[in-house]
Amino acid sequence: MLAKFTVLILTEDKAGWEVVRTIVGKSFQEIDPEANVWPDDLWSRPTEKAARAARGSYWKSTAERDEPDRRELIREITTHLLRPRGFVVFHFDGDEPWSRRGHSENVAKWSRFCVHVAQNIQQHRKDPELVSDTLSRLLRVTPFYCMESWLYLATNSVLAECTSSHGAAHHDVIRALASVTSQIAEVVQPWKAWCLGKTANDRLVHSFPTMEAYELQQSFHETMERMMACADLVEALKSTRRERT
Ligand SMILES: [Zn+2]
Repeated sequence: MLAKFTVLILTEDKAGWEVVRTIVGKSFQEIDPEANVWPDDLWSRPTEKAARAARGSYWKSTAERDEPDRRELIREITTHLLRPRGFVVFHFDGDEPWSRRGHSENVAKWSRFCVHVAQNIQQHRKDPELVSDTLSRLLRVTPFYCMESWLYLATNSVLAECTSSHGAAHHDVIRALASVTSQIAEVVQPWKAWCLGKTANDRLVHSFPTMEAYELQQSFHETMERMMACADLVEALKSTRRERT
């Protein structure tokens, strides 16, 4: 019998677990339309300690006081990755407009973070090839500028939310902001420009237009390409077809 396929979701957003899970599930479904990606037990939540360390700046902090939390987070990631079909998805925002993606401090800090994870894996796997195989199952989800830049692509749902919350008062602004979809990723702190702020993320994610976002060739495209480049993931998704009931 195959080992269980599980995906541990970590996110820097305090209330973002379900949003990230839904985005990742929709991405998996695009990668393999036949896969069965929605069983609850496929998705793992982190322990409270690791969840806290993934939030805000803890995971990228170099401050000594944050070290125990960071170490705990790395340990938990490693434990999950060492499972035969264990994957870890880590969401953090680019915090830069897409055109300035090369300047994202978070992406630079992520590279350093991955070195620490690799060092931790080495304590369990001596063969360098096995270390890189294991590390390849750690998948980064990085929207530019932030998660809302993706969610606001669901313009019709954004308009409907504005209708129910604000009596359609901001439809003109929303339509103007979304008139060139590739420009949404250029807005700094978009939650301040769109009237919904971060309040509707849990609902908007269900109408997130996966293929439209992919075809923009921006950060969602990159995120999905990273998933598709993970041979173990593609194989694991394929195997769920057989598990289908
Ligand atoms: Zn509104």
